[in-house]
Amino acid sequence: MKTDPKEYDAVIVGSGPNGLSAGVRLAQEGLKVIILEAKSTIGGGTRTQELTEPGFLHDVCSAVHPTAAGSPFFKTLDLQKFGLEFIHPDIPYVHPLDNGDAVAAFRSIERTAEQLGIDGKAYLKIFKEFTENWDYLSEDIFGTLRIPKHPLLMARFGWYGLFSAKHFTNSLFKDPQTKALFAGCAAHSIIPLSKAFTSSFGLVLGSSAHAVGWPFAKGGSSAITNALAELFKSLSGEIITDHEVNSMADIPTSKTVIFDLTPHQIAKIAGDKLPGKYKEKLLTYTYGPGVFKIDWALSEPVPWENEHSRKAGTLHLGGTFQEIATSEQAAWKGEHHEKPYVLVAQPSIFDKSRAPNGKHTLWAYCHVPNGSEKDMTEFIENQIERFAPGFRDTIISKNTMHTREMQTYNSNYIGGDINGGAQISTQLFGRPVLKWDPYKIPADGLYICSSSTPPGGGVHGMSGYHAAESVLKNEFGFNS
Ligand SMILES: Cc1cc2nc3c(=O)[nH]c(=O)nc-3n(C[C@H](O)[C@H](O)[C@H](O)COP(=O)(O)OP(=O)(O)OC[C@H]3O[C@@H](n4cnc5c(N)ncnc54)[C@H](O)[C@@H]3O)c2cc1C
Repeated sequence: MKTDPKEYDAVIVGSGPNGLSAGVRLAQEGLKVIILEAKSTIGGGTRTQELTEPGFLHDVCSAVHPTAAGSPFFKTLDLQKFGLEFIHPDIPYVHPLDNGDAVAAFRSIERTAEQLGIDGKAYLKIFKEFTENWDYLSEDIFGTLRIPKHPLLMARFGWYGLFSAKHFTNSLFKDPQTKALFAGCAAHSIIPLSKAFTSSFGLVLGSSAHAVGWPFAKGGSSAITNALAELFKSLSGEIITDHEVNSMADIPTSKTVIFDLTPHQIAKIAGDKLPGKYKEKLLTYTYGPGVFKIDWALSEPVPWENEHSRKAGTLHLGGTFQEIATSEQAAWKGEHHEKPYVLVAQPSIFDKSRAPNGKHTLWAYCHVPNGSEKDMTEFIENQIERFAPGFRDTIISKNTMHTREMQTYNSNYIGGDINGGAQISTQLFGRPVLKWDPYKIPADGLYICSSSTPPGGGVHGMSGYHAAESVLKNEFGFNS
């Protein structure tokens, strides 16, 4: 009998950090792999472009890389050899407050705790263990659903992490400054701070600042995926750009297909092959709030009032815990808040390659309702002016993107959701569907590897790595 010679062992749809990581892992084992990318350049949420003026290099999506620096998979790859260099700002992140004050997360946990006064001891007690044991912790939090490799550490992490950020801060901290510092990290979850598990985001990001830092990639975030792509090609992997997959017919014959896409896209492309119940779950998967993003070209550094703010890579703007909680609640409820929580990054202060001599780039976004087309420029700039009076005078030009423009830029950002789905408790471990192996789609040879699988959003490549491990085990009989 004539067998069907498959052209590839694996086709990966999408070249984000997870698609590329899946590709690298499979190619490491000698499989014949091709990556198909809809856009003319690779990288998904890591592209770097001249969005405003010639010579100003902006990170269109991700800019700050604690999860890349702390990724157990990236650590095993010699990405430096392929051009990746992390640049660490003097201070990982700062939380400006009114009256020119600010509270900073330094690389040193002790220095951070000293500044927290009455809460210093509690901060040290909680964060020191996770910081010092980061390598162990990251194996479990970036791992798959299984019995933890480090059960005692994970039990303590799980105990603190299952609370809402609101309950966590009210129980453990007294000073409004410490609560605000924690809120700035927890609000990266893009869900209300009163929801269960939001403290886990604050704990992971807070600990990572001390353990691995919050670096930039020299030259821009594209350096991360360019390095992954070069490594992939060195292992005989192929990449084709300008190849949008709209149906299974757009995919060359292959033993397996791995989607670096989110559930709704997969239901559209492979719907006919999926069991009805699974397809239904993909179609009812919940996406979270979107983002409104601004990139500026500046004539000089932002005139932050506070000295620490001028030395930080990332800033969380929004003032008190309550202000941030109110703004996040509003985006979740479908409202636009006039004083939004704003994430700001200032890479050119530390990486001179980002802007012409003496000039600067600035990156910021705030959370808005899914699908919003509202222009948030004024509200975001007001928040920056609040902590850096005179900021508007430094603007040369700017580029803005509302949620629909985000989705046009990258069709994984459904309604502007940058995490591949809301990171609510039901979708934290069981994304996209609660299964022991969430990477395996219940159809012949189909898999999902995007941030819509555990461990979720961020440039860490771990979803891609785990999906590849599942492919190796289920389809090729590898046992790692
Ligand atoms: C504004 C913004 C700021 C962010 N900030 C940070 C940050 O500072 N730090 C951080 O760690 N993370 C950040 N993130 C999140 C991070 O970028 C994502 O979590 C990460 O990129 C997800 O990787 P992925 O591989 O799952 O998907 P993506 O990076 O989204 O890649 C998916 C790829 O698939 C392609 N594709 C889509 N549909 C098709 C199709 N039909 N056919 C072929 N190809 C297709 C897309 O073009 C894209 O290249 C940010 C995201 C945004 C948007």
